[in-house]
Amino acid sequence: MCGIFGYIGFRKATPLLIEGLRQMEYRGYDSAGVCLSEKNGLKAVKAKGRVGELVKKAANQDLASTIGIAHTRWATHGAPSEKNAHPHLDCQGDIAVVHNGIIENYQALKKILEKEGHCFVSETDSEVISHLIEKFSEGASFEGAVLKTLKILQGTFGLAVVKAGEDKIIGARKGSPFILGLGDGEMFLASDASAILKYTKKVVYLDDGEMVTIGKDGFLTRKLNGEVSEKEVCELKWNAEQIEKGGFKHFMLKEIFEQPQAVANTLRGRLASDTVKLSVDIDAKAVNRIVIMACGTSFYSGLIGKQLIEKFCRVRVDVEYASEFRYRDPIVDKDDLAVVISQSGETADTLAALKEAKERGAKTLGIVNVVGSTIAREVDCGIYLHAGPEISVAATKAFTCQIAALALLTAFLQEQRTGRADPEFLRELAGLPEKIQDILDHPQEISKIAEVFRKTRNALYLGRGFNYPLALEGALKLKETSYIHAEGYPAAEMKHGPIALIDENMPAVFIATKDQTYEKILSNMQEIKARGGRILAIVNPRDKEASNLADWIIETPVVMECLSPMVNVVPLQLLAYYVADAKGIDVDKPRNLAKSVTVE
Ligand code: GLU
Repeated sequence: MCGIFGYIGFRKATPLLIEGLRQMEYRGYDSAGVCLSEKNGLKAVKAKGRVGELVKKAANQDLASTIGIAHTRWATHGAPSEKNAHPHLDCQGDIAVVHNGIIENYQALKKILEKEGHCFVSETDSEVISHLIEKFSEGASFEGAVLKTLKILQGTFGLAVVKAGEDKIIGARKGSPFILGLGDGEMFLASDASAILKYTKKVVYLDDGEMVTIGKDGFLTRKLNGEVSEKEVCELKWNAEQIEKGGFKHFMLKEIFEQPQAVANTLRGRLASDTVKLSVDIDAKAVNRIVIMACGTSFYSGLIGKQLIEKFCRVRVDVEYASEFRYRDPIVDKDDLAVVISQSGETADTLAALKEAKERGAKTLGIVNVVGSTIAREVDCGIYLHAGPEISVAATKAFTCQIAALALLTAFLQEQRTGRADPEFLRELAGLPEKIQDILDHPQEISKIAEVFRKTRNALYLGRGFNYPLALEGALKLKETSYIHAEGYPAAEMKHGPIALIDENMPAVFIATKDQTYEKILSNMQEIKARGGRILAIVNPRDKEASNLADWIIETPVVMECLSPMVNVVPLQLLAYYVADAKGIDVDKPRNLAKSVTVE
């Protein structure tokens, strides 16, 4: 998820491009670049790191043009480096492209283009676009060549293209945000309205599968079949900060709502009806044991991963707190696969545990969101989440995407070991983004329940089986965002201590969706009820028994038991968010915490 900005008009483009990138830096910041359409051809400047680094490099260049495109990158393919930074140029240096998204068929396209003599300089998926436009430019107009290119790209894109000698910018979108700003004698293109708000409030939203040609006095939109489309000019009503958060009050809420898309991105290009494609080099049959190492929320997704892998692959899995693992004398050897999970890829304890496992000869695999992060570079192989930047300190979309990645790993290992991945599991996995969306369509009831919870000082979260780690995650979310003391327990374990705490002031949150432990959960709910406790239950639609025992219920759709944590977690995240917000807490930055824990 990167930021794209384009300008064509009467002012010098470079300062506007830089300012646009600064506004969108939250979208990605591992490298940045600009390309200006100067009188004597295209001029590109790129830098690794933040926009500030690009500013330093651009300062020494003579960039006078009034036409340009810019990009701040959040790497998905290829490490964050200067050579992988956008814009990407064709062989002649006459066509430059900035791209947001993932081109899924880039490997096949790159092979063909290389055979035809095109030379690639980056490891990105995006570079195929400029070479394709170059290829199709023979005998075709600029627009014609771009249209031909767009038709064969699979995956997602928001992109902007400039060509030497052409006083225009071409933009297009499919699955990535893109907005056109209309000024007076000048036009803007951006991934995010926050970047153009200070120049104009008149905007045009590009639809998926649309291409736009922009000159300084006008624009023309077409569908991918070449047909011209009519566009409505809209008026922006938000202030800049609201827009950055996409209209949500906090990043945490925005990220909760991004989960259907984020999970779809984790699965994209990797899941087919009868197989899973992962580029991980593991001899699955030789793996004797798996050890998962992580901290915080990632540790809880690891606990779910253990149950998934053991159920489907019959391989022993141990889950370790990364911070504990290296301070004892752990038993790990060359027949083990060490899986490390970290959203940022920089978690100090997880990194240290990874090094320990490596030294002891284990093969290592990372499940990481941030491309090119330290852990991503240290592991033998890995699975990127592609969830987009997670800004809120309390992890939400990283959790669901980590489970999705662990589910992919499960299916991959099962297929390698037995010759076949469970087709029902694959089908259910593919349907999850839609099911998560079902819950997000009705958040109001949860915000009402939050009004009650905000007054409580303690809470107990209880679940069993696959939903036991969810009880831990639900309690953690409430603690870290609302400063309410919460404990997560396997439901049956409460009889061994925590039940002593139950009274009318300590509510219990039960994850009580229909699974093999449902009857047992009902008994645990009875036990709480008998002691005057109040119950919030997460249940499936048309549930009767658990609902009758509960004071409040939240419904989640029916999902195969082993994947149910991915939907059941959503109301727990929303509850934590609404309680924290009702208490007036700075939800995105809870006290004493930091987003990525890079100290031990
Ligand atoms: N897939 C492209 C890359 O890795 C674009 C990523 C982005 O959206 O920032 O460079």
